[in-house]
Amino acid sequence: MKLAFLGTGAAEGIPGLWCTCARCQAARQEGSRSIRLRCMLLIDDRLLIDCGPDLVAASIRDNLDLSSVRTLLITHEHSDHLYLPNLEYRQTDFCPTPLPTLEVYGSAGAVGQIRAMPRGEEAMRLRTHVVSAFQTWEVDGYRVTAFRARHGGPSMEPLFFAIGDGHSSILYAHDTGPFPEETWEYLTRPPEGQRWSFDLVSIDMTSGLLDIVGQGHMTFRQIVEHRDRLASLGLLKPGARFFANHFSHNGNPTYRELTERLSVAGIEPAYDGLTLRL
Ligand SMILES: [Zn+2]
Ligand SMILES: [Zn+2]
Ligand SMILES: [Zn+2]
Repeated sequence: MKLAFLGTGAAEGIPGLWCTCARCQAARQEGSRSIRLRCMLLIDDRLLIDCGPDLVAASIRDNLDLSSVRTLLITHEHSDHLYLPNLEYRQTDFCPTPLPTLEVYGSAGAVGQIRAMPRGEEAMRLRTHVVSAFQTWEVDGYRVTAFRARHGGPSMEPLFFAIGDGHSSILYAHDTGPFPEETWEYLTRPPEGQRWSFDLVSIDMTSGLLDIVGQGHMTFRQIVEHRDRLASLGLLKPGARFFANHFSHNGNPTYRELTERLSVAGIEPAYDGLTLRL
């Protein structure tokens, strides 16, 4: 499984749009891994998680050919994760070249926004599927399970995903605060044959080094607790890598300092352009 972290920032990116705080100014000065577009992950050049407003910028930066993407998983409908015009640009008046039908999976709320778009699914060369927490399905050679996240208002059904290809498995868990207990229950006692064991986890650390108890996002202290609980449940393979992701400048320093601070716990900060093979 090849993973490409296209973006690793929270809603306003880093440096934050409009922001001149010390962390944003330091990020502007350092550039490189301290600069973060909004979160997206591309797996094997054919499965995309989230479709935010920086997809164009990431595809140009990394010279990506996204015509091979056949599956899109949407975590939730916040605008940094679902930017609807990206789907419109699949219409032949924007993209005259052939595209496979994109299979799009998300909650009723996220999919509802796509279904309400004026030109319709066929014109955008996609097919939507509503999924719920704790549903498992197969698509394009992958097994995917959706988990309930803790994030957004009461009308939102935020999800995060486990994805496996029969060889490697990852947990991509943001945006979320502390995992809801139903999610821990499923991870601990899944249906027959549906147990997960992860080679890599990417988890929400929006609030970074702040001394708070995050609810819809998490801090460093909270993700260490999650890593330890996942490990104690036997859900991490030996040598599994554990990445913090979805960083806000409100709580996270530049890449170099973050790497130092997280390394004491064996956690790595993700960064834009990070590519890994599992
Ligand atoms: Zn977000
Ligand atoms: Zn800032
Ligand atoms: Zn969000």
